[in-house]
Amino acid sequence: LIGLFAYLLARGIISPLKRLTEAAGKVANGDLDVRIPVQRQDELGTATMVFNDMVDQLRQSRGRLEELSTMDSLTQLANRRHILEILTGHLDRFRRKGTPFSVLLADADHFKRINDDVGHMAGDQVLSELGAIFKRLLRTVDSAGRYGGEEFLIILEDTRGKEALQTAERIRAAVESSSVAAKDSSLRFTVSIGVAEIQSGDAEDQLIMRADTALYQAKREGRNRAVLARLPRGKVTHHPAVRELDVS
Ligand code: GH3
Ligand code: MG
Ligand code: MG
Repeated sequence: LIGLFAYLLARGIISPLKRLTEAAGKVANGDLDVRIPVQRQDELGTATMVFNDMVDQLRQSRGRLEELSTMDSLTQLANRRHILEILTGHLDRFRRKGTPFSVLLADADHFKRINDDVGHMAGDQVLSELGAIFKRLLRTVDSAGRYGGEEFLIILEDTRGKEALQTAERIRAAVESSSVAAKDSSLRFTVSIGVAEIQSGDAEDQLIMRADTALYQAKREGRNRAVLARLPRGKVTHHPAVRELDVS
């Protein structure tokens, strides 16, 4: 009888405690996908429910933190660090499997003027609207991020340069026909876009530099346009100081 009692006690208390301890160990190691079925109505059942709630809360907080650390709050796009991580992911895949992709570097035109004329708040609204337009026009497999103040990096998966130029043109046209409310009028704005397709041997900065050169050309040719980077790679020279030659 004593043996049977000891066995039942072990099965009824020790096993659920062991399950809880194991689950707590997983959580301590960062695995937040654990959930223990609640099979009892007693204190151990309550402890299991409390444990599950705690893990739910932790999972939500972690998700929110991940979002905060990867997202630009003004535009709701990826932040610079995150979009560059995504770019590296695409580059790795291109190197492993040869899947092509293209990038767009989009820069708001005469943005300083917008800030000066209608204020920084209206400028912020324009940036936020640009984020919304990119999201609306891009496919779910594409990515868009805020690369700098009024400059955006867009990555188009499995897309060649010529197709990417068409997407850039659609974005350009959508931006041109959009507006935000400012003071007592509606504010119109445009973007210039440089487009570049990945080439073998490219590193991230070479690809971005080609897109930047094309962007510079778009600016020089009058803004509110999309330009595809010239090939072959390496023929286009570019230095950041070139920006200073941009006279409008
Ligand atoms: P361009 O057509 O040659 O690109 O001219 P631009 O005026 O857009 O370029 P410039 O680099 O001279 O100015 C960029 C401006 O963007 C200056 C900066 O104050 C503004 N800017 C950067 N980040 C933000 C932001 O978060 N909010 C607002 N409102 N303005 C910003
Ligand atoms: Mg600009
Ligand atoms: Mg800029």
